[in-house]
Amino acid sequence: MNDEHFMQLALVQAELAAAQGEVPVGAVVVHQGQVVAQAHNAPIGLNDPTAHAEVLALRAAAQHLGNYRLEDCTLYVTLEPCAMCAGAMLNARLPRVVWGATEPKTGAAGSVLNVFAQAAWNHHTQHLGGVLAHSSTALLQAFFQSQRAAQKQASSWPLRDDALRTPEACFADLPDYPWQPNYINDLPSLNGLRLHYLDEGPKDAEVTWLCLHGNPAWSYLYRKMIPVFLQAGHRVVAPDMPGFGKSDKPKKDNAHSFDWHRQVLLELVEALDLQDIHLVVQDWGGILGLTLPMHAPERYQGLLVMNTTLATGEQPLSAGFLAWRQMCADKPLFDVGRLLGRGNPQMSEAECAAYNAPFPDAGHRAALRAFPPMVPEFAHSEGADMSRQAQSFWRDVWSGKSFMAIGAQDPVLGEPVMQALRQSIRHCPQALVLPEAGHFVQEHGEVIATAALKALVAHSL
Ligand SMILES: [Zn+2]
Repeated sequence: MNDEHFMQLALVQAELAAAQGEVPVGAVVVHQGQVVAQAHNAPIGLNDPTAHAEVLALRAAAQHLGNYRLEDCTLYVTLEPCAMCAGAMLNARLPRVVWGATEPKTGAAGSVLNVFAQAAWNHHTQHLGGVLAHSSTALLQAFFQSQRAAQKQASSWPLRDDALRTPEACFADLPDYPWQPNYINDLPSLNGLRLHYLDEGPKDAEVTWLCLHGNPAWSYLYRKMIPVFLQAGHRVVAPDMPGFGKSDKPKKDNAHSFDWHRQVLLELVEALDLQDIHLVVQDWGGILGLTLPMHAPERYQGLLVMNTTLATGEQPLSAGFLAWRQMCADKPLFDVGRLLGRGNPQMSEAECAAYNAPFPDAGHRAALRAFPPMVPEFAHSEGADMSRQAQSFWRDVWSGKSFMAIGAQDPVLGEPVMQALRQSIRHCPQALVLPEAGHFVQEHGEVIATAALKALVAHSL
């Protein structure tokens, strides 16, 4: 009877895990009839492979009791413990563990192996399985069913005749990109195209980092910064622009335009109703992204700006940019991964390959062809007027905090361009200059994200 009562509390924890997108497993530790710790699975949220419900509960109980040995304690967990957790219980000298459902794939209390029955070890933890097993199983099944359904639904969304969809297999085994895909296709400007975005961290976080990539990158570019923001308890939203990453790719180059991409981003911010945004931009992420806040200034609080510009069409395009545009025209099949790797010798081959993943053939590369000529060149070019309006906004209206980071090796959007941009951003302090970093400065993103967090979010770190 008592066991069922405490297992019920563990099930409540499991439901909390499910609500956060974690596999629903919950645990409570009871000491002399009193609950002294409750926890749920959180490896994704905490970026911690050891953050199983049991480990977190054991840790909290030991803290609470001021003793690393959990004498007189019983741990209740909704699922049969794995080898790591069973081992942690033995290390804690836990006298007793009660679990719910059996775990045929990884269970270490009898299903796959039995850590508790090693005769050679002198401590033994009493164990009892199957308490409220049915409720735990139901929770787990519902969780996996809804995950499968969400994935299936998105992958079955019809593909427009004039677009391509990179096969999911191209994105298998990407290094350091563990996040679940999210899709949206009902923004008016998408007209049925499927847009992919990452959306991690609590929806009601005090800060949302909106990370915008440029050409020819995708949300993969932010993999070193995202964990820093999540660690601070913040939300991160990182879309792949149409034509890039896991988003659908129009077949025709001329499907892409400055105004269309800007509109997609504006509608995405509205649809997700993002608040307390800290805008994170680089390259086209900034050329487009810096024109967004003036549309809805109340949504934006902070700016992290890296190697980008406002293309107002008033200055001639730089020699460095013209050379890049010419290279893209001359070598339309240039190797994206090699381009990234050239400026970032620290990147592994698998990381470079991840930048090629969205583009299995020339058909998928319309955006790569379209973007370089889309940079507003003259005062009357599409986007130039919008960029001039944005310039006034940043100079005269912007009241949020700003942080600038510059990859000094960038021949196109390096220090001179960025220092000029800094002059037109109100109250933008001295930039963090990374002497080793190139254009794709996010490849040094951990340092930048940490510094930006400190500068932009007062009480963090
Ligand atoms: Zn475990």
